[in-house]
Order: sequence, then C-alpha cells, then structure tokens
Amino acid sequence: MIKSRLFLPLILFVFAFNANAQSLDAMIERDLPSMLATYKTLHAAPELSHREEKTAAFVAGELRKLGFTVAERIGKFQNAQWTGYGLVGVLKNGPGPTVLVRTELDALPVEEKTGVPYASQVKTKNDAGVEVSVMHACGHDIHMTSFLGTAKLLTELKDRWSGTLIMLGQPAEETGDGANAMLRDSLYTNFPRPDFAIALHDKPELETGKVGYTPGYAMASATSIDIKIRGVGGHGSMPEATKDPVVVAAQVVTALQTIVSRENSPLDPAVVTVGSIHGGTRYNIIPDEVNLQLTVRAYKEEVRRKVLASIERIVKGVAATAGIPEDRAPIVKVSEGTGPTYNDPQLIERLAGVFKRALGEENVVKLDPIMASEDFGYFSLDQKIPATLFWLGASEPAKVKAWRETGAPLPGLHSALFAPVPEPTLRTGVKAMTSAVLELMKK
Ligand SMILES: [Zn+2]
Ligand SMILES: [Zn+2]
Repeated sequence: MIKSRLFLPLILFVFAFNANAQSLDAMIERDLPSMLATYKTLHAAPELSHREEKTAAFVAGELRKLGFTVAERIGKFQNAQWTGYGLVGVLKNGPGPTVLVRTELDALPVEEKTGVPYASQVKTKNDAGVEVSVMHACGHDIHMTSFLGTAKLLTELKDRWSGTLIMLGQPAEETGDGANAMLRDSLYTNFPRPDFAIALHDKPELETGKVGYTPGYAMASATSIDIKIRGVGGHGSMPEATKDPVVVAAQVVTALQTIVSRENSPLDPAVVTVGSIHGGTRYNIIPDEVNLQLTVRAYKEEVRRKVLASIERIVKGVAATAGIPEDRAPIVKVSEGTGPTYNDPQLIERLAGVFKRALGEENVVKLDPIMASEDFGYFSLDQKIPATLFWLGASEPAKVKAWRETGAPLPGLHSALFAPVPEPTLRTGVKAMTSAVLELMKK
C-alpha cells in the first residue's frame, strides 16, 4: 500500500518528463524541413565580416515574426567606415533571469569545394579590393539556423519558462572585433544585462548528434603582432657593406621558439607562431627590411603579457647583436586581439547535466581545451557574467572514427571542404540550446 502510494507519483513524474522530452523532439521534427531550407539559404549566401547586411536583416526579420522586439545595426567598430550589423531580439516573459543566446553572422574568404548542391558561389571584393570567394566555412550558418529554431521553440513553450530572453546576432566574429563592437555600442545599457550568456559552436572532430563541453578555459586569447626588421640593404655580392635583415629574421624566428620552450611554465599553455615572413625582391639584392606576422595564444592574461614582452626583447636583442644601428631597430606592433573563452564551471556543469538528460549520457562528452580563439568571452565582461560556449558535433560518425583510428582526412573549421551534416546537427543544436535555456529560466 505504502509502496504503491509512493510509486504512483513517480510514474506520473517519469511520464510527464518523457512527454515533455517527446514533445520537444516532435516539435523539432516538425520544424526540421523549414530549418533545413533556412540552413541551405544561409549557406548559399555568405557574407564577409563587417558586411553581414543581408544576413543580419534576415535573422532580425525571422525574430520579429516570432514576436521578439528587435533592434538592428548595433556595433561600433574602431574603423568608423564599417557598419555594425549586430542585432538584438528581446522577449520578456515575466520575472526571472535574463539569458543571452548568441549566434555569429559572418563567413570567410574561402572558395567552397564541398560539392554540396547548396554550395556557395558567392564572390565579392575584400577590403583590399581583391576579388575573393565567400563561404560559411566555420558553420555560422548552422549556428544561425539552430538559434532561430531555438527562438521558435521557446516562443511556443512560453508557459515553461519565465524571465527575459535575449537572442543576439553578432557580426565580425572571424575578425575578433564584433563582440567588442556591440559592447562598445552600449549593449548592456540599451538592453537588459544578462545573468547568463550561452553560445554553441560546431565541431568537425565530434560526431553529429553529440555535444561537447570544456569547463574553465576552453579557448585561448589570440594576439596579432607585426614585426618590421630593418637592416641596411645593398648588393648581394657585398654583405660586408650591409646589415642583412633576412639573416636577422631567420635568427629571430628560431630564437622566438625559446619563449614557450624555455621561458614559459609548461603548465601554462602558450603558442608563438610566425605565420608570415616577407622580404626582398630578387637573388642578388640584400633588402632593407623583412616583415613578419605572428599569432600568440595563451589562456592567462599574465602569460600573454609575458610572451609579448619576450618577443619584443628577443627581436630587438637579435637585431642589436647583428649590429643593426639603434635608429634602425625593429618595430614591433601589437594589434588588438581576442580574449580567452572561459566557460563558467558551475554553469557548464549544470548545462552538461541538462544535455545528458536531453540527448543521452553517451552523447555528451567532456573535451580538452584548444588554442583556437573566439570573441564570445567578451560578453562575460571578464568573467563577471557566467558565460559558456559548448561544442556541437557536426561530422558523420564513420568519418570521425576513421580520422581518429587511421588519420584519414577530416575537413576542419575554415576548410574549403568543411560540410557539416545538416539534419542531425541542427536537430541536436536546437534540442541542446532549447533545453539549456529552459533549464536556466525554468518556472
Ligand atoms: Zn571561424
Ligand atoms: Zn566560428
């Protein structure tokens, strides 16, 4: 008797939970054909960073149709010629927390070679006036489609949550300046400041149908550095009359390798990569200068600062050792970079529990951090607002298996061959993101 009295509410609870889970699945299946159409439309019409005009207008229009109050053209860039195509959709639904969901809007100057029927044919001129092909090679089209699918489900499920939902479309993620441009444009004073900020990013190295999460530092900060090594040029046959910047540059590249290997703690990840080296015009001329471009990655700000100081010291030291006069010392220019992505551990663990219930324990995996970077972290205001980004698996499971076991090629992000499997990826993205918001705003 006692047993059955306890048992009945349990059955009802389990039944109710399953019914809810099932209804979410049913709603997603119902919407999948239109989501696929949206995805293919977005995929075929990519726009470069700082030029996301049509993409932003489309996303804003869709949010408006769903009943969001939408503001457009948010974002102030340092280059005043660029328009900020950021957008914010707000849906107020009673008291409770404010949750921000972010998608990116931009694509990359990559010529698509996937061969899918909806492949991009888009060509445009870049800032330098050079014609480039454009492709959603980072999957931001998957993100936008999941974002809109999530927005739709949440408007239909308003009786299950309470609070303020902010759906934010961010421009210029690939150039690392879009999030800051929106914050600089009074994002958190013109619109409600969030209690939580969440985003997803597709991941080719993870099977479609799965999500991944990384508590704490998940992605590194990225800093771009330009180095101009100045020498004294002359005839290639008379090195004694010159100060050869090519040799100095070669020594600099080698000497820089000691920063991570000898100066930095092995427990603090850091990367120094020289990605570009240009100097000289022909065989027998010692040039006046050589230009290098570097990227520096780190999680901790103190590590980043130390690495930057070491670069400057080494570059100037090598040049001085070569006898380059002080007035021709190298010029080291550090550009505005991107901060690290720090996943609030409490928030991501909470969401991981939700994902396990929604997608099954086996479809939620903890992943190692990576040294790639992303500007989503800025929305946390230096970790003052709990924020987290989770990974969305995007590749055929058999291909991921072959890549892991035999090293078979698996096109990664930014590859001309990156082709996420749309249906299961969108299904999982919408389910995970919707479940996450419902958890954070549950009644
Ligand atoms: Zn990217
Ligand atoms: Zn991306």
